[in-house]
Amino acid sequence: MQKIDVQNPNVQVINIKKVGTQDRYRVILSDGTHYIQGMLATQLNQLVADNQLVENAIICLKEFITNVVQDKTVLILLKCEIVSTHPAKIGNPTEVYKADVAAGSSNKPVGGMYDAPPPAPAAGGSSNYSNPYQNQASRSASGGGSAPTGRSGLSSNIIPVSQLNPYQNKWVIKGRITNKGDMRTWNNAKGEGCLFSIDILDASGMDIRGTFFKEDANKWFNVLEVDKVYTFSGGRLKVANPQWNKCKCQHEITFDRSTDIQLCEEDASIQQNIFDFSQIVKLESIEPESIIDIIGVVASISPVTSITAKKTGNELKKCELTVMDDSDAQVNVTLWGKKAETAENEFAGCPVVAFKGLKVSDYGGRSCGTLMSSAILKGPRIPETERIQSWFQNRGANATVKNLSTGGGGAGRVETFESRKTVSAIRNEQLGYNEKPDWLSFKATISFIKKDKEGGPWYPACPNAEEPCRNMCKVISTSDDHWQCEKCNKQYDKCTRRYIFSATFADNTSTCWASMFNDQALALLGGHTADELNEWMQNGDYDKFEKVFDDALFTDWIVKAKVKSELVSEEQRVKTTAYSISPVDYAKESRDLLKAIKGLQ
Ligand SMILES: [Zn+2]
Repeated sequence: MQKIDVQNPNVQVINIKKVGTQDRYRVILSDGTHYIQGMLATQLNQLVADNQLVENAIICLKEFITNVVQDKTVLILLKCEIVSTHPAKIGNPTEVYKADVAAGSSNKPVGGMYDAPPPAPAAGGSSNYSNPYQNQASRSASGGGSAPTGRSGLSSNIIPVSQLNPYQNKWVIKGRITNKGDMRTWNNAKGEGCLFSIDILDASGMDIRGTFFKEDANKWFNVLEVDKVYTFSGGRLKVANPQWNKCKCQHEITFDRSTDIQLCEEDASIQQNIFDFSQIVKLESIEPESIIDIIGVVASISPVTSITAKKTGNELKKCELTVMDDSDAQVNVTLWGKKAETAENEFAGCPVVAFKGLKVSDYGGRSCGTLMSSAILKGPRIPETERIQSWFQNRGANATVKNLSTGGGGAGRVETFESRKTVSAIRNEQLGYNEKPDWLSFKATISFIKKDKEGGPWYPACPNAEEPCRNMCKVISTSDDHWQCEKCNKQYDKCTRRYIFSATFADNTSTCWASMFNDQALALLGGHTADELNEWMQNGDYDKFEKVFDDALFTDWIVKAKVKSELVSEEQRVKTTAYSISPVDYAKESRDLLKAIKGLQ
């Protein structure tokens, strides 16, 4: 038989058939003497839909690979051109012997595959990227079946991520893990299990999502590290769902028992990640729900709080970072889940951090939040890091920065050391007399807690944790010892007690009264709940009750407060509400003080 001219052979399509439920087409290709089975890569499906790739058509194979499936050699067509139509089958071809096809047939790419330019890196990335695959010997027409030269072992089999497709059963890719998701679990009618995903970026600048399930997830979760380079082989490929998968590759990998992953030496030809940074100041005009990348200095970190997800009832950890860049603007970035739990240690000391795949929201002006797929990289090895760093050192720390996250309840208000005020500022700056509430943060000592309210410094709240009550609305005790909620219109055996009291905060300049609600009180009182304290009261354990408050007295806090004047019996009174309180981190406080003193010199 005649060897197929592997450069650009013309062949006849003598049969075409859709297989399976997905849009996959099997073709039988003939050179007039022999025929061979082939599969169309999905990008060629359009040719079938357009009625161009039809039975008996003559096509020119531009890019293809050979693959052994159940002892049969199959051609995977990646790129072809329609040469002409033809009225009938040419000759009487017989099936080609496996051994005759490109001797030593394997899944090594053949043909002109490497002649195509590599995919361009994303905007924002370095554009002068060399193609690391280019050096690999491509099989020329005359090359027949010779193996790529100059390489041996694994590296010669490494293919670009862009060339992975579902018809290959053997492949090796090399890439850096740019993101590793949290381990997630599921438990439904079909059973239970766990999974996690990684994003792999290769030297051509294309990334692909890979997911591990169950025992494979347990096996690899603690082994794989973000920012390290590995070779990956083994696993199934399928078409990616762009709704969930933002990687550039149109396929994704399901790793399985056959998967082999080997740690490689650091490879500078593989970028750390591909970013398309937006300047923070521009976020103002970006549509909410957009997915963006930013890079900036993490100027402050809020304490970790937890909220209960409405849908699932699961507790979710949350932490807010203030991120500023050299567009002289700052925005709040909310981290969720594991990312929130580790934030305080991870981002201490104002590092430059790149965020990839944040979702923009219009909560509190403009803010951003992480998604499961977001990647966070501290001190990335890119020119932007140095630029931001020097901006921050030279003027950023003292510059007036436009804050995009101000409105909407002040949740987005920043608490940088530099923006902190004193208690006397409330009076001196006449805060609270504007249309909107004023916000400030100060460091102060708690000097008095008004706990002598009859029945206790709390109120009985509805035990319904769901909407509309969310444990917030007040319930009334009934004559038969039940609790009536007007909001959800139900009676309950028990209520949930929530703190409400006033306290005074003092610093070296002044003292102020502030209203404290349940969340702040829990922080202040070491987590003892109002229900707990109520029970002690009922049991006559007054000493225990007193001790909780005594322990809280004269402790130091960073207070974030809302100030607004109210009309109380025809008199304007300024009311201060503690929005959040966090214990003073003395080490951080000292560092900040030293830095501030240095700035004065
Ligand atoms: Zn209720």
